[in-house]
Amino acid sequence: MKKHNFSAGPCILPQEVFEKSAQAILNFNQSGLSILEISHRSKDFIAVMEEARALVLELLGLTGKGYQALFLQGGASMEFLRVPHNLMPLGGQASYLDTGTWANNAIKEAKLFGDTVVVASSKNENYNHIPTDYIIPETASYFHCTSNNTIFGTQIKQFPQTAVPMICDMSSDIFSRSLDFSQFDLIYAGAQKNMGPAGTTLIIIKESILGKTGRSIPSMMDYEKHIKADSMYNTPAVLPVYSSLLTLQWLKNQGGIAAIEKKNEAKAQLLYNEIDRNPLFIGTANKADRSSMNATFLLVDSTHQELFDSLWKAAGISGLPGHRSVGGYRASMYNALPIESVQVLVDAMQELEKQVK
Ligand SMILES: *Cc1c(COP(=O)(O)O)cnc(C)c1O
Repeated sequence: MKKHNFSAGPCILPQEVFEKSAQAILNFNQSGLSILEISHRSKDFIAVMEEARALVLELLGLTGKGYQALFLQGGASMEFLRVPHNLMPLGGQASYLDTGTWANNAIKEAKLFGDTVVVASSKNENYNHIPTDYIIPETASYFHCTSNNTIFGTQIKQFPQTAVPMICDMSSDIFSRSLDFSQFDLIYAGAQKNMGPAGTTLIIIKESILGKTGRSIPSMMDYEKHIKADSMYNTPAVLPVYSSLLTLQWLKNQGGIAAIEKKNEAKAQLLYNEIDRNPLFIGTANKADRSSMNATFLLVDSTHQELFDSLWKAAGISGLPGHRSVGGYRASMYNALPIESVQVLVDAMQELEKQVK
């Protein structure tokens, strides 16, 4: 039986994406060939790449606004260094908001390139909230933030107004909610949280911000080279790009981001209501900053752990244990997770309450 998959990543994708990906491995577009054995420069694969790149911009409302979408490799972690390579001038400065482990990893890489200012951090409270009231220096070449903190279950609801380009790691909430995406100058996301299998990273860049650093940039690091080569400077991750395209098509058929956002809000509300109502559980993130993608929560009395674990496992739930830096539980409710799965989790929480009374 198919499990209720709450894994933080790699994670659930739409069932039709699994089925169509499997079909393409066996016989791609009725060609008599597997997608794994054709040239990435074949007409059929170029069509996949071009449709995926165009659909990204269409879904985000960025078509015709000077943006380019790329599907590169190295994961979101590679963008931690590609960003300063392309945007931090020699002798320049960058500014970062520290909201969790991934933000911190991005900061570590930027420090290798130059003066890196951390404008605010919630590290001292184990990243349980999103800092506000910080000042972004106008001397910085860019400001970097992480929209959704996958590990700590917090999410930026309101982005700052910036005089400098705004860069955002959206790995775990891209395509999950409506935003004015044109407020960002560069967005990146590892595919494996809300879009596709691990192996490709989506990068969306406003072209006008590139080419200003005076640095020599190694080819694989250079966004301009990848744009010029239509995201095929080297062999792309063909299957992850194809599966990502299938997810984007699925999303469009669902009614796009606005429609999926409503479903995501309903799922998050269902679970957070139970976390707040049920006296056996407590949420770890500040209420105002709670993520609609990753809900982190603890048992008030950890002696109930064995019983609760047996209840959710028996209900067919997978991927619920929290990250080691928070403990407890983390329910990841990405786009493809149906609300029925959240109801199964809520039922298990209520069953625990009945049994310990
Ligand atoms: C998972 C994650 C990453 C790391 O992604 P990789 O593709 O494994 O490098 C970076 N940022 C955020 C917000 C994440 O959730």
